[in-house]
Amino acid sequence: NLDVEWAKDWMRRSSDTLTEHRMELIDLDRAIGDGDHGENMARGFTAVIQRMDEAPPEDVAGVFKLVAQTLMSKVGGAAGPLYGTAFIRASKAAEGDLDAAWVATLCEAALDGIVTRGKATTGEKTMVDAWTPAITAAKAAADAGHSPAQALRAAADAAAEGAEATIPLKATKGRASYLGERSIGHKDPGATSTAYLLACAADAAE
Ligand code: ADP
Ligand code: MG
Ligand code: MG
Repeated sequence: NLDVEWAKDWMRRSSDTLTEHRMELIDLDRAIGDGDHGENMARGFTAVIQRMDEAPPEDVAGVFKLVAQTLMSKVGGAAGPLYGTAFIRASKAAEGDLDAAWVATLCEAALDGIVTRGKATTGEKTMVDAWTPAITAAKAAADAGHSPAQALRAAADAAAEGAEATIPLKATKGRASYLGERSIGHKDPGATSTAYLLACAADAAE
């Protein structure tokens, strides 16, 4: 099952991946926003790793709490508070057996935080369109008796598909909504970063 070493490895991989894909996320956000999403995420997760190394958390809940606090304080704009709230909820949900069924609980908790904060629903071209199919996929994997790593992979793949599926959507929440029809034809940056985060969670579990 998943443990604190997994959670730490997840964040290390996230920092590397978001730094690697910084320009891609910037370009996506440049098309329908203000072009800072890649910078926000890379900076935020670099700070997460710094803090994690200074004061290593003892459990999964502690790792997620540190991520939440760091993203809230270091990442401005929409994504900082949204991901921050997601990780606070995830931290509260990180108890008991962290098995395949818990992977669905984790995604549900994250989505719950994001929706509480941002009031978006599916189809509005936001990160909600990545987290929502991730929950369904994780649940299916758990019901099929798959491992936590497999449930995370299923969630990550579903999130990536969800991110692709934002391309034809018209944004009705966040900065991209200012563009109206002109937001159509572009992939949502936040849904894209969500897919990267979940892929890192799956990589760390394998
Ligand atoms: P900002 O738009 O303030 O510059 P970022 O560029 O870091 O912030 O993040 C933009 C991303 O945040 C969007 O691509 C979208 O996925 C997400 N987002 C924005 N508003 C909302 C919302 N109300 N609910 C969910 N996600 C949102
Ligand atoms: Mg932006
Ligand atoms: Mg901004």
